[in-house]
Amino acid sequence: MFNIAKVAAPSAALLGVILLIANVEETYDLGIIPYALIVGGICVLMLLALSGNKQQSPLCRIGFHNFIEVGQDSGDMPLYIYRCERCRLEKKVIKAI
Ligand SMILES: [Zn+2]
Repeated sequence: MFNIAKVAAPSAALLGVILLIANVEETYDLGIIPYALIVGGICVLMLLALSGNKQQSPLCRIGFHNFIEVGQDSGDMPLYIYRCERCRLEKKVIKAI
């Protein structure tokens, strides 16, 4: 259930942004559907972050705290270590680029 929502929520938000950028309402009357997709997708993402992560601060779980890059993990995967400026929480991130 959570795995489906983790894919569906950002996809819905992205679809809403694409519908807005592509000016689809000139052809079809969509009303508030693109805005509802964006807001709904972001709200579901926040709820997932609050329910899934076991970090201390709710603001950190949602993603309101700044993370700074503090180092690189040695290993096969290019893992970068990020630390929260407020909670001092560290997490390892894979950079695609
Ligand atoms: Zn934090």
